Amino acid sequence: LAMIDAARDPFRTATWKAAPLVACEAPVGAEEPVVNPADPSDVVGHVTWASPETVAAAAQAAQPWDAPPEVRAEALTRAADLYEANFGELFAILHREAGKSLLDAVAEIREAVDFLRYYAARAEGAPAVGLFACISPWNFPLAIFTGQMTAALAAGNAVLAKPAEQTPLLAHRAAQLLHQAGVPETALQLLPGAGDVGAALTSNPQVGGVAFTGSTDTAQIIHKSIAENLAPGTPFIAETGGLNAMIVDSTALPEQAVKAILESSFQSAGQRCSALRCLYVQEDIVESFTEMLTGAMDALSPGAPWDLSTDLGPVIDAEAKAGITDYIEAARKDGRVVHQIDVPQTGHFVPPTLIRVNGIEAMEREIFGPVLHIATFKADQLDRVIDTINATGYGLTFGLQTRIDDRVQHVSERIEAGNVYVNRNQIGAIVGSQPFGGEGLSGTGPKAGGPLYLDRFRQHAAPS
Ligand code: ADP
Repeated sequence: LAMIDAARDPFRTATWKAAPLVACEAPVGAEEPVVNPADPSDVVGHVTWASPETVAAAAQAAQPWDAPPEVRAEALTRAADLYEANFGELFAILHREAGKSLLDAVAEIREAVDFLRYYAARAEGAPAVGLFACISPWNFPLAIFTGQMTAALAAGNAVLAKPAEQTPLLAHRAAQLLHQAGVPETALQLLPGAGDVGAALTSNPQVGGVAFTGSTDTAQIIHKSIAENLAPGTPFIAETGGLNAMIVDSTALPEQAVKAILESSFQSAGQRCSALRCLYVQEDIVESFTEMLTGAMDALSPGAPWDLSTDLGPVIDAEAKAGITDYIEAARKDGRVVHQIDVPQTGHFVPPTLIRVNGIEAMEREIFGPVLHIATFKADQLDRVIDTINATGYGLTFGLQTRIDDRVQHVSERIEAGNVYVNRNQIGAIVGSQPFGGEGLSGTGPKAGGPLYLDRFRQHAAPS
């Protein structure tokens, strides 16, 4: 642990630069600072943005990676080794640019390396010779960014990768490592930018497939753009949000359930698509259970991601903080805030908050932050709760805490969710053995980290 002594860590004060990585001369956009969400006075680096013109030039310069499968596999395996060799630097950028806690940052680098090794091992068959746009979010800025483009590259496509506007530095460093590992610059081009760059990608007729992770609203905009601008049959791999629920019945082990709830709702400050949003507790235990849960919330330790004792960091930016805070304040006016704990005043911290609702249908939309809703149900209302959860149209994660074996089977068969977790926290997936992905409004599948996912990247459309 002495190795992570902040004062002696050169990465604590280092800065990074990000810019479009394109295989041609291309116009670029403006330059801007990138700041630490836990401490906006800490400038982590600078980014030169791509513009829609950069996208057009990069699409022209793209060349599918038509090397034999073993060459692609070797380069992607080398990239996994390079990620590991540069662990300290990636770790530091995850802390300072994305506000990831120690635990979250380590887990994320491991997941990114797992994606690289998993898809590298499956880089078989003839190259797909398509052009894929990969549009990724800021909440898993290394793992999702790496997973999407590695699958596309393993299949032999060229990739135009657009990281989220909040996390360009990490994406730039990761793309450099892939190039260093032997991925040709014409096969992987990086376009740091906002929605306008994303829109330029999803309407460029040379693009033959789109992989997207982000909000359901943006997925719907992209879906429309693909239908209007790209060739018929263009694959669209979308992974989006969820209104994820957990049911705690009166037989559940309360300590186990409380621990699972805190991890599922508040790790990563609730900024996971898998995060628990709505908790259903059986009415006869709700009073004692709520007391235990709020007591456990008081023991959470919000703070700087760099601090070893921190288990809850900031949200990503001022806009996210303002949106979540407005939502909480509206609930407070209605007298529905059950509990809240204090957080640091500097930086983009949002207090973990428990809000009472009458059921998941009372939540209009996913709140992407440390906000947990609690509802109750009577012993004979279990099926109604399941129907209510299914009726949201989302179907990403679901958790169940019970000691009734038959109930596990009954509920698992009826619930419409991509990933179901019983008597544990409802986060995490394992590349290879437990792929991750949702149904309905939560995504178009197939699950990331599974065998079918890669197949979708072999089904690109010809340029229109
Ligand atoms: P979030 O709310 O998590 O930021 P978004 O769906 O807005 O989710 O963002 C996910 C990714 O989609 C980001 O890289 C973002 O820049 C990109 N994006 C936003 N708007 C568009 C758009 N109209 N077309 C394509 N990509 C977009």
